[in-house]
Amino acid sequence: MSFQSFNPPRRILMGPGPSDISPQVLSSLSRPIVGHLDPLFIGMMDEVKALLQYAFQTKNEFTIALSAPGSAGMEACFVNLVEPGDKVIVCRNGVFGDRMVQNVIRVDAEPIIVDTTWGRAVEIDKVEQALIDNPDAKFVAFVHAETATGAVSDAKTLCALAHKHDCLSIVDAVTSLGGIELRVDEWGIDAIYSGSQKCLSCVPGLSPLSFSEKAVSVIKNRKTLVQSWFLDQSLVMSYWSGEGKRSYHHTAPVNSLYALHESLLHLHNEGLENSWDRHKAQHEDLARGLEKLGIKFIVPKEERLPQLNAIYIPDGVDDVKVRNYLLNHYNLEIGAGLGDFAGKAWRIGLMGYAARSENVALCLTALEDALNQ
Ligand SMILES: *Cc1c(COP(=O)(O)O)cnc(C)c1O
Repeated sequence: MSFQSFNPPRRILMGPGPSDISPQVLSSLSRPIVGHLDPLFIGMMDEVKALLQYAFQTKNEFTIALSAPGSAGMEACFVNLVEPGDKVIVCRNGVFGDRMVQNVIRVDAEPIIVDTTWGRAVEIDKVEQALIDNPDAKFVAFVHAETATGAVSDAKTLCALAHKHDCLSIVDAVTSLGGIELRVDEWGIDAIYSGSQKCLSCVPGLSPLSFSEKAVSVIKNRKTLVQSWFLDQSLVMSYWSGEGKRSYHHTAPVNSLYALHESLLHLHNEGLENSWDRHKAQHEDLARGLEKLGIKFIVPKEERLPQLNAIYIPDGVDDVKVRNYLLNHYNLEIGAGLGDFAGKAWRIGLMGYAARSENVALCLTALEDALNQ
């Protein structure tokens, strides 16, 4: 058997992530490696932290990039904050809300599940009722941007509700960060995690994470040890925040962090609000084009995510054939349906660097061609 270097074609990624990566971010990966405790690298990590604080709109001292994908960010929130026996209200309106439930179960805590129909925003009234029925609940957990369905939930109201009932909020912002309005401090988010490969348009494998002071004090006052050594954030805190005492915890993914720094720099240079506006404008163009093709959205207009467009596959159209056609003829990837929507929906991502006019135009042309074939 003979092996060769792997040289993939240049695809255009318009699925649920990973998203397109700009040439500048990609090339930052090939800069010379330095030691992860090199003073120059530590200086860059200080900037990563400051840029993440900007992206999250937070002053949280504990704001880091976890060396693992978004799923690990989710797990880090649950294993660090939640102790066995705690009651956690979990809002479930798609695949990722259900993963939160699985996390709660695995830390031996008690999930109080608030179900909302897939494709809709989390129902505030139901969450309030769950809080009234469970005065001993300690956390409210929800997904801001449900990538499985393309629905956005009202994070600001949900966090206010959690605080009114003395609960901390745990928020999944994997798909929302950089793509839609998100204000960690103003909205009172206590624990939040994201992913590098969605609207930040960086390589997969890093999870931005931020904890409020209240969340940090919950972690510091735990009665039990965090089950996971690697995800125990009390062990990592000194690396990220101790003045000059960067001690070894694990080897940081050095070059991936160059790419995160570069992508956060682009977001900062563009301006967060400009990025939100760009995602919205590109989404509106795409939606107009899709409607012309007779394609219907799953989510009602006011609850739609601009960066994740979930649409019904037209009757009689072969899901896999169309997606393969786009890949083979246009080097274009769109996402398949997930969970309840498998085989019934496509998910067109307009995330980060992918949210550009030429991509919208290409996607509409390619889709029209594929449907005509
Ligand atoms: C992609 C995604 C995750 C998981 O992130 P990975 O990097 O794939 O582990 C979690 N939550 C949401 C909402 C996502 O879209």
